[in-house]
Amino acid sequence: MASSSRAVDSLEAGIYTALNTSLDDHGRVINWIRDTSIAYIDKIKQLFTYASLASIVLLTRDLFDALNGRAVFLNSSYRWYKIGAGSVGLLAIGYFGGRWLTPEAVPETRNVEGRGAVKITESISDTTFQTTKLILNISLACFSKNRLLPLLSATALSYTIFKNLNIKWIVVSREIINNNQSSRIGKLRITYSQMMINPGKQTEDGCKECAKEDEPKIVFCDSHAYHTSCITDWLAERIFHIRPYDLKKTVTTKYRNGVYDGNEISWSATVDDKDLPKCPHPECEKPALKSDLGIVVYEGSDVYPASLKINNNSDRA
Ligand SMILES: [Zn+2]
Ligand SMILES: [Zn+2]
Repeated sequence: MASSSRAVDSLEAGIYTALNTSLDDHGRVINWIRDTSIAYIDKIKQLFTYASLASIVLLTRDLFDALNGRAVFLNSSYRWYKIGAGSVGLLAIGYFGGRWLTPEAVPETRNVEGRGAVKITESISDTTFQTTKLILNISLACFSKNRLLPLLSATALSYTIFKNLNIKWIVVSREIINNNQSSRIGKLRITYSQMMINPGKQTEDGCKECAKEDEPKIVFCDSHAYHTSCITDWLAERIFHIRPYDLKKTVTTKYRNGVYDGNEISWSATVDDKDLPKCPHPECEKPALKSDLGIVVYEGSDVYPASLKINNNSDRA
């Protein structure tokens, strides 16, 4: 069973390698793996989270067995208490190590002149599970008879953690307050998030926003890179271009066995594709490699996420 957990670790490292592979043309197959990893990164991460939970249980059990047979200091009284306390301690080190590597993002509120307030959060992927597995594998390498396999897993996991720390998410949100007293809508919240991948190596020289050529770059589209602060400033202003319209409320009356069973409320809105952030390079106009737009409706004390329609045919001014 532990071997399947090792296969998962290698697969995860492989996915992150593909994801971070510089965006040059690597041939059809590698390009496809890279683009698919980028497009489905949320789902992929979710799957790896489930796999990680399972392997943490398996690894802890393996460590229990290894400690029981090998560790000299355990050959005295209170053996099981020591093993139990040791395992709990290792899990705690892994958990808090992961939190230390990827602290919770603190939102920054900024006032964009002449526009209004935006909330900006810069976050990196959480590595708590990988760090916990890393600590367990290193401990297994110390105590189990076979050291090679836990060390291979530890290498793959360190690599995954390193790659994860290179993926940033910039989340920018703003609110539209409704001043129309006749409507129960209090406000709309627009949240735009964008994955910022470090290209690994330079895609093109210099940041396209400030024209300086130093410091690491973050990829926006598949061929232009920027400084994180440059692209954040730009997005903080750019989110005011996103103006949802055609806000619609749908109330569906539910019946169960012919008896009234409450109403189901849903909201929808439309956004023009031309208003969504596109690469700031003047000759590019490509969308971000991976982005997400969410609109939430606050009605009275209720909060509803709106389903979005993207309009591609709006008149280009
Ligand atoms: Zn710059
Ligand atoms: Zn571009």
